[in-house]
Amino acid sequence: MNTTKYIFVTGGVSSSLGKGIIAASLAKLLQARGYRVTIQKLDPYINVDPGTLNPYEHGECYVTDDGAETDLDLGHYERFLNVSTSQANNVTTGRIYQSVIEKERRGEFLGKTVQVIPHITNEIKERIQLLGNTGDYDIIITEIGGTVGDIESLPYIESVRQLKWELGDDNALVIHLTLVPYLSAAGELKTKPTQHSVKTLMESGIRADILVCRTEHELSEELKRKLALFCNVKYEAVIQSIDASTIYDVPNMMLDEGLDTVTLQKLNLTNTNEPDLTRWNQFLQRHKNPKGKVTIGLIGKYVELQDSYKSILESFIHAGAENEVKVEVRAIHSEHIDAENIAEELSGLDGILVAPGFGERGIEGKIEAVRYARENNLPFLGICLGMQMAVIEFARNVLGLKDANSTEMNENTSHPVIDLMEDQKSITNKGGTMRLGAWKCELKENSIVEKVYNAKEISERHRHRYEYNNSYRKQLENAGMVATGINPDTGLVEIVEIPTHPWFVGVQYHPEYKSTVANPHPLFVAFVGAAHEHAKKK
Ligand code: GLN
Repeated sequence: MNTTKYIFVTGGVSSSLGKGIIAASLAKLLQARGYRVTIQKLDPYINVDPGTLNPYEHGECYVTDDGAETDLDLGHYERFLNVSTSQANNVTTGRIYQSVIEKERRGEFLGKTVQVIPHITNEIKERIQLLGNTGDYDIIITEIGGTVGDIESLPYIESVRQLKWELGDDNALVIHLTLVPYLSAAGELKTKPTQHSVKTLMESGIRADILVCRTEHELSEELKRKLALFCNVKYEAVIQSIDASTIYDVPNMMLDEGLDTVTLQKLNLTNTNEPDLTRWNQFLQRHKNPKGKVTIGLIGKYVELQDSYKSILESFIHAGAENEVKVEVRAIHSEHIDAENIAEELSGLDGILVAPGFGERGIEGKIEAVRYARENNLPFLGICLGMQMAVIEFARNVLGLKDANSTEMNENTSHPVIDLMEDQKSITNKGGTMRLGAWKCELKENSIVEKVYNAKEISERHRHRYEYNNSYRKQLENAGMVATGINPDTGLVEIVEIPTHPWFVGVQYHPEYKSTVANPHPLFVAFVGAAHEHAKKK
């Protein structure tokens, strides 16, 4: 018999309340008690995956080992749980419809009218249970994107209602996250929006079992009682989620509020082990008590939006704790830097990270930033497009190939040092067609990366169409930019270094997707370490 338990997390009142962090924090607490937990996210938009969205829409696109382009919440899940997610952990309305329509074309519903209920809802229910049916997990947490009452989330909410009925109250529960706003003119916290939101959920036939209330001020006992009475939940099931200074505090805050305890009670799970958060709390202790500080310049073109480089920023937090330093990340817009103002714009930095990206906008600024790091012996890390810019900069300014470029930016360059990968040339569709997911890479002996990873072979996640052009390799290496990581099957260059520079590394893959609290990424740890060395010399 399948005894997997299901927890659904819905949101009300407003978006951006942090459902992903609440889901990840609860998952962390349950995992710390010994349960096997995973989280999935259901997104109501019609894109088949977020790979075709620009970061201004939904923030960063997160990539899993199996090459799924997913919502950035999956990044939080992996960072909190230190467990890999996959294609099955993120489902969009687009994917649901695509699959139902393909079934219809194959004739699987022959003779029937295909409808939202039951066909779309059945597909949703199947997807929700996919991970549960593997037998790998005791508990599946499913986060429903959007806000209750949205037209586009209705099929998801209906599917949750049906599943809850089918699985029974012991096997499924609903946590509803709402906002309790503070009206400063009245000097009061207001419960009405939460009452309305719970009512909206009720109209769809779902009774919330647990309320998590986002708030800027402590909820009094009286206010919690009021919320419990009017929202039809037990007093212990009204959980306060007060603004935190770091998302990494949220698991402990939820522990203090008893979110895990009520959850276990409601699901009839009797494990009374105290959660073991030793590793987590060691990290927090280091994160909150830094012994030094480094300033890193993050050069990108989506820097206005924090979420665009989510995984990179979190990787710096993990690496900072590991080095016991505070990493201050200064976001610098690549469109705002040029040869004239570069020294001023980048002054005071201890390290430079040139970010991933697509398209031409802002690339000349990125190239200038690489040059500045290279010429001034500043620790440098280039990720994906950032690595490609490092190769272009070196070709232009060291090899003297003035017109060197990537064919992504200039198809007619006479020196395509970065070029479209051979197997990309025949591809016309944009969705899900890049080189995606985990690929092996062999590290060169005595390179920085060999020391950093302490390994001969690694596996890292990719998301790109263009590559280092091997026909320039000899020239680049002779002039001092060495290829130190190679894909053993294809010969693609994945890593470049400049051995005469104190710390200059460019990687074609995305190390930021694999950094977690329990396992800070070695490349970020080493980069922050090099920046710290630089800071100490100042
Ligand atoms: N635009 C580049 C490519 O497709 C880099 C992609 C990235 O930075 N993720 O190869």
